[in-house]
Amino acid sequence: MTELLFRNDGYLRSCSARVIAADEHGIRLDRTVFYPMGGGQPGDTGVLRLAEGLPITILDTVKGALPDEVIHVPAPGAALPEPGAELVAEIDWDRRYRLMRMHTCLHLLCSVVLGAVTGGQVSDGRGRLDFDVPGSSLDKDAIASRLNALIAEGHPAGARWITDAGLDTTPELVRTMSVKPPHGTGRVRLMEIAGLDLQPCGGTHVRNTAEIGPVAVTKIENKGRQNRRVILAFAE
Ligand SMILES: [Zn+2]
Repeated sequence: MTELLFRNDGYLRSCSARVIAADEHGIRLDRTVFYPMGGGQPGDTGVLRLAEGLPITILDTVKGALPDEVIHVPAPGAALPEPGAELVAEIDWDRRYRLMRMHTCLHLLCSVVLGAVTGGQVSDGRGRLDFDVPGSSLDKDAIASRLNALIAEGHPAGARWITDAGLDTTPELVRTMSVKPPHGTGRVRLMEIAGLDLQPCGGTHVRNTAEIGPVAVTKIENKGRQNRRVILAFAE
């Protein structure tokens, strides 16, 4: 099984690791800093540096069939490492940090727009959430100014864990209607921005909302009768 280092420290840029297996689908390591696509956050890109031979470019990271299984997807034609090989796994930090900032910003957006979240996606430099809210109840400028105020106030953000049973007795923690948090491992990871947002999330986040930097609400789209899509982008 792979030790998921990003889960306890989203700021880790690289780690040493050993190859468990490698085939045409991808490379599995005993530990990794690469976040696999999930929860609306894209998988990491980066490079695996072997003691000998060419570095292996990683174009994407996805989940495997087993829990906590992480598949590092190499560039087509890359020479695959042998099981047991030692290497350094290094993510594209600049990209990941932008994803962390936007991902954390979507949590803040949840505290600004009240209503069930029906979908969401983080991409490089942009992010969106869909809310089940009626009519034209959302004001683009009001959302942007509230969001930027919360960012500038510098609220601490961090993860904590709750048991499956604890989550079952507090279902209001779950804001997303479409994505149910994973059950069955005994505990669920919560992401908290103190006093503002608390919900199950396995993604990577910044430690303080000030790190997000100024954002713009680029668009609010009507996606069906009660579905409003709020699209954000970094303002600088
Ligand atoms: Zn999150």
